[in-house]
Amino acid sequence: MATRAEMLAELGIAPVWRLRADAPVARAPASRDGDDTPAPARPPAAEDRAARIARLTWDAFAADVDACTACGLCRTRHRSVPGVGDVRANWLLVGEAPGAEEDARGEPFVGQAGRLLDNMLAALGLARGRDVYIANVLKCRPPNNRTPDPLEVAACRPYLDRQVALLEPRLILALGRSAAMTLLGIDATIASLRGRVHRYHGVPLVVTYHPAYLLRNLPDKAKAWDDLLLARRTLA
Ligand code: URA
Repeated sequence: MATRAEMLAELGIAPVWRLRADAPVARAPASRDGDDTPAPARPPAAEDRAARIARLTWDAFAADVDACTACGLCRTRHRSVPGVGDVRANWLLVGEAPGAEEDARGEPFVGQAGRLLDNMLAALGLARGRDVYIANVLKCRPPNNRTPDPLEVAACRPYLDRQVALLEPRLILALGRSAAMTLLGIDATIASLRGRVHRYHGVPLVVTYHPAYLLRNLPDKAKAWDDLLLARRTLA
């Protein structure tokens, strides 16, 4: 069985004392002006894995996610949920993690929240698979839809980064607080993040409410519509 240190190293979150004692830390690229992307420091084992994932083609991507055992979610998932859509899309939508229906079908946002998301896209003249790619921060369902653990987010991050690199979207829409906090590396409310354009790896990023939240808070749909309009203006 892997030691705790080995597990942490694989996930890219080994304790600082190990990073200093064992090996030079690979430096994350210097951040660009106005780029809100957090720069993770990863130890060598995680660097190797991240570097391998960073070379994946679209053809190899889904199978690689499906074979992933980097965190414990591989033991409880039914299907991995790599992402779906047009690989030449301008829009990348990022949610939190698959739920029960997504876990059963292997596709993001296919439950009730997904139907609302499809309606929101339709209002913009968009559709999943047509100029839109949909992914989640986590590619596997956390049991009982619990909040993603930081270790799981760190383990899954290289996949999201590869999707961004392959897709080269012109706009990222972060759906909900969890996706926004993960992508921007900050702890903040949706209210404080909405209404302005952030950046992830240099790509403009707009934050809006998660469709599941909107199902419970219908009046906020109007605010979500404003966010979609901001996203469309930004892309234009
Ligand atoms: N919620 C998410 O964040 N993603 C999904 O795929 C489904 C529900």
